[in-house]
Amino acid sequence: MHADIAVLAGDGIGPEVTRAALDVLHAVGQRYGHQFVEHHHLIGGAAIDASGDALPAETLAACRKADAVLLGAVGGPKWSDPKAKVRPEQGLLALRQELGLYANLRPVRPHPAALGASPIKAHLLTGVDLLVVRELTGGLYFGKKNRSADSATDVCTYTVAEIERVVRRAATLASARSGNLASVDKANVLETSRLWREVTTRVIAEEFPNVKLEHHLVDSMAMHLIARPRAFDVIVTENLFGDILTDEASMLAGSMGLLPSASLGDGKRGLYEPIHGSAPDIAGRGIANPIAAILSVAMLLRHSLDLPDEAQCVERAVSQCLDAHVFTADLADGGPSVSTEQLTRAVLTELGGCCYVPELRD
Ligand code: NAD
Repeated sequence: MHADIAVLAGDGIGPEVTRAALDVLHAVGQRYGHQFVEHHHLIGGAAIDASGDALPAETLAACRKADAVLLGAVGGPKWSDPKAKVRPEQGLLALRQELGLYANLRPVRPHPAALGASPIKAHLLTGVDLLVVRELTGGLYFGKKNRSADSATDVCTYTVAEIERVVRRAATLASARSGNLASVDKANVLETSRLWREVTTRVIAEEFPNVKLEHHLVDSMAMHLIARPRAFDVIVTENLFGDILTDEASMLAGSMGLLPSASLGDGKRGLYEPIHGSAPDIAGRGIANPIAAILSVAMLLRHSLDLPDEAQCVERAVSQCLDAHVFTADLADGGPSVSTEQLTRAVLTELGGCCYVPELRD
């Protein structure tokens, strides 16, 4: 197969973890006889520096043409002035909206060898396998904003159609798993949440008789995710709640550096990125965990390119590295750790089918 991949490495650790992910993608290409062509473009802070625009027109055009988009992360202190007219995150939000990527899939599967990196007790984590489906192009992040001297407003709007399509996507995924779907809202307070609950209940009752739906308020879900994470399978929720709950859920896995994501619309083209940000505190030091970016490549292979065997091969290679305790500093709990590059080489070696443990760094 030939596939064109738009690569938006972005800011901070974005370029470091994206390079690792691309090395893995090409290794898969070599092993299975596919040709993946990288097309690099600017987004976020790097794009603001170059053109004053967080999403230059040529970047958007390249993403529309590509078979899939691989993104690192955007943002950082350099562009964080609250008075700035344009911010890096605007580029990413605009890209998601322009490409119609309304469903953001965030799997959370703590790895048995990395349970010690989580602040949660290991016995609560064993067997946890969550898939959070976050609505990505509606709600507070896209509502009208207003600012006056003594007040500020962010409008939260959801339409029936916006809720229906993301709930259908989540229910379809739940049908292929345990059949259990948890919908998260704040229906005791918010009108948008009452609509969310009403539409979700109807869609499941009319179209997914085999899916067992339960509703949770977001505040209690924040508690349940920590107290009994094994009780959930697929979780669907709106943009803001999904953003917050998945950062919380990353602590089940032990590090932000482990969680990939896929942002999907109605077609095959998707945007794949780690859930973490640009991590300015560790950028440029070569110690970022590349696993979230590498597992995002696995999701790209599965969802945009229909290559499930190749995706599984990447996931297995990552899993074998974690089994062998090849940990970057975020997972090592003060113990010996490897660099971004060493972990990537270990994954590449596992992909090649032999066992390799890089030299450990103090
Ligand atoms: P962050 O996710 O960048 O970092 C949070 C913490 O997790 C930091 O301590 C960081 O060192 C650690 N971390 C994150 N990824 C890691 C990795 N791969 N390996 C090891 N440790 C890792 O969140 P933040 O610090 O709140 O935000 C930094 C910038 O990133 C901000 O400008 C924010 O707006 C932006 N951001 C961008 C995205 C995105 O591009 N999708 C998402 C979230 C935040």
